Amino acid sequence: MVLPRWVWDYIRTIMEGGSYAELRGWFRDPVAPRHSVRPTVSEVSSPCPTKRDAYLRRVAKIPMEDTEILRLGRLIHEIFLAPFRESIPLSQLDSRFENILNDYGELGNKYKTQLYEIYTKAITLALNARDEGIPTSVEPSIPGAPIGLSDVVKPDILVGFIPMELVTSSPTEELISRKDIAVTAYALAIEAWIGHPVDIGIVLHISINGKLRFTWRVVKIDDTLRRAFLDMRDDVARIIEHGDDPGPASSCPKTCPFYGVCHG
Ligand code: SF4
Repeated sequence: MVLPRWVWDYIRTIMEGGSYAELRGWFRDPVAPRHSVRPTVSEVSSPCPTKRDAYLRRVAKIPMEDTEILRLGRLIHEIFLAPFRESIPLSQLDSRFENILNDYGELGNKYKTQLYEIYTKAITLALNARDEGIPTSVEPSIPGAPIGLSDVVKPDILVGFIPMELVTSSPTEELISRKDIAVTAYALAIEAWIGHPVDIGIVLHISINGKLRFTWRVVKIDDTLRRAFLDMRDDVARIIEHGDDPGPASSCPKTCPFYGVCHG
């Protein structure tokens, strides 16, 4: 199975006694867009406290700097998702890995050991899922417009109808709250798409700082999270639609690709 056994068991446990969400993706009035601009999931759940990054990119048209940390994040995603994306013949597993690494030049070699470990773990999970007939799809295109998001939204993996996001760092309080918003956005989009309730999202944190670490988080998508997502979506849409510069935040992550623009 894609998720470790204990994650499935944990999902069952936290859903027992059922307190269910009332706000669903298929209820047009509460979830319909309030603005003509429809942001992406990453704009809504970005690390910028004031959402100035959305203003800089979409209004001021300042391109995002492609930092090493962003490239490493993309590389980890590619390595992890490859075995889920396609059934790689056993004889080609290593060459497929090398091909992905080669596309990233020196960066791939720098983290080769940890990346290979991620790759082998992903192969095991993907093979288990296939053996057990658990349906998965990688970066499926789900309509986002019904809930005021971009034309399509793409969770990293859909396990059945559970959206799963991959994050390439350890869980911190800040990261947890915005990734919870991201899986909530996907859950609402799936509900609007198929009319089936989605009360769970999964976030897998992969940290390669020091010893490789996988941290699985089960997110119970309740009405509080659903409302928080809708409020953030409206804030970001308003900033872009009206061209309002929210200004730099008082505390910004040094890794922000716009750090030089806001604090240069
Ligand atoms: S530097 Fe700060 S205010 Fe500017 S985009 Fe990044 S997080 Fe936002």
